[in-house]
Amino acid sequence: MKQPASNLQIDSARLWDTIHETAKFGATPKGGVRRLTLGPEDKQVRDWFRKSCEAAGLEVHVDTLGSMFALRRGRDMSKPPVGLGSHLDTQPTGGKYDGVLGTLAALEVVRTLNDAGIETEMPICIVNWTNEEGSRFAPAMMASAAYVGDFTTDDILSRRDAEGVTVAEALDSIGYRGERPVGTQKFSSFVELHIEQGPILEAEGKTIGVVDSGQGVLWYDGKITGTPMPLRRDALATLSEIVLAMESIARKHGPKAVGTIGEAVIAKPSRNVIPGEIAFTVDCRSADAGIMDALDRELRAAAAEIAARRKVDVTLDMVWRKPPTHFDAKLVDAVENAAQALGYSHRRITSGAGHDACNLNTIMPAAMVFVPCKDGVSHNELEDATQADCTAGANVLMHTVLALAGVAS
Ligand SMILES: [Zn+2]
Repeated sequence: MKQPASNLQIDSARLWDTIHETAKFGATPKGGVRRLTLGPEDKQVRDWFRKSCEAAGLEVHVDTLGSMFALRRGRDMSKPPVGLGSHLDTQPTGGKYDGVLGTLAALEVVRTLNDAGIETEMPICIVNWTNEEGSRFAPAMMASAAYVGDFTTDDILSRRDAEGVTVAEALDSIGYRGERPVGTQKFSSFVELHIEQGPILEAEGKTIGVVDSGQGVLWYDGKITGTPMPLRRDALATLSEIVLAMESIARKHGPKAVGTIGEAVIAKPSRNVIPGEIAFTVDCRSADAGIMDALDRELRAAAAEIAARRKVDVTLDMVWRKPPTHFDAKLVDAVENAAQALGYSHRRITSGAGHDACNLNTIMPAAMVFVPCKDGVSHNELEDATQADCTAGANVLMHTVLALAGVAS
């Protein structure tokens, strides 16, 4: 007999085995994963993913940027599918869950629907987006950004890694430059499951994060030019004031804002010479567009004041501005309803990091599901999540997708 869809649960052990099976592609000695986008380990996991999707009855297509789309037919093929998935590339010393969980949970959803003999009204489509991490090729999330039209395909294909290899060459070398033009596969909506990459869910003992927004980002490249002795216009002392100003501006708008000066390089450093020139970077984030404007205004004003008082030259060039994401209200409700119906503790949450779903949300309804990760750690071999939480996230993903795609009667 057919199981009623409302009681359906994914196979926790199968999901867990799948995560650990793929973690061997690029496994590091400390228990993490090194699977740089479009490298040999990425090919291995892609081949595995394609085979597993085909074994689950899905039709797999690859677009010209290597993103993989695995379609499960619905009763009504006149509608575009509900999309679900994430990415399978990792940071150079990454973990087993970032991106992987969302992609493999999507596969587990399909396997569960297959086992239960459930046909959905609308088709559903699993996606593995190319280069979410951005550690080999910039920018991060390049495939979903091209998908929504922020970059042309040719622009992305010509990007180079540190060795000078282009995206096009890397795709060809692993056989993943697909036939389909970017953007061909349409979606009616998209849902991405991901580990939180922050400490909030764990600290509050909540299982599910219903992600309703994503932080906007401001990136600057800064430069300070002072003069050495005898004027003692010290670039490092100037930077110290700018760092403290950034801290107090972010704190003033906290907890809705963060700001970090994460890199600073002294030109020609020497123990007994006053630093004359320093390059530095700034990263500011907020989910509130008004606060982002305030951060920009106040940081520039502080830098100008410090520069004038110390009689040094400070330049601050904005190199990236990404507006905040506000996920689709109906989809966010669908995620929340699924978490509620399944009896999982949950809370609304803002994503601190960027995700493919944030890009997609600019042209289609999108939403995200978060599960806790240990100590909020990610992009690290120590990244960890529990089987119970991953299972809960996959169940919420499945019931959100069922609510969106509809169960064929
Ligand atoms: Zn990720």
